Amino acid sequence: MTDCLFCRMVAGEIPADVVSETDRTLAFRDINPQAPTHVLVIPKDHHATAGALVGADPQLLAEVVAAAHAVAVQEGLATADGPEPGYRLVANTGPAAGQTVHHLHVHVLGGRDLGWPPG
Ligand code: 5GP
Ligand code: ZN
Repeated sequence: MTDCLFCRMVAGEIPADVVSETDRTLAFRDINPQAPTHVLVIPKDHHATAGALVGADPQLLAEVVAAAHAVAVQEGLATADGPEPGYRLVANTGPAAGQTVHHLHVHVLGGRDLGWPPG
């Protein structure tokens, strides 16, 4: 039994609106979407941040990024040939960035003009 929310979603203890899955990654819709497409992509194994994961299993970090891109294509935010109309990947890390769930997750955001700089 873990108190990590995203580990519990991987375990099926908390429901998730899953959009895609690989043997080592899970992608599901954010419960509080900030854009028409707002999907979270996580490694199924628990790693707190991208920095922690790249030290432990860099191949898995690459799989998370590949899964995030695949979600963007599936959601119509990019094509196999190019980045149109476009999307944003975000990994909030630590308190200054407002990370609230301490299991690495990459936000895939798109479907509107996202603006820059972010808040
Ligand atoms: P962070 O602020 O850590 O970068 O992002 C955490 C994200 O997890 C937030 O966007 C928040 O809406 C999302 N979230 C929190 N609890 C749940 C939940 O129970 N289910 C889903 N699908 N998303 C959640
Ligand atoms: Zn976890």
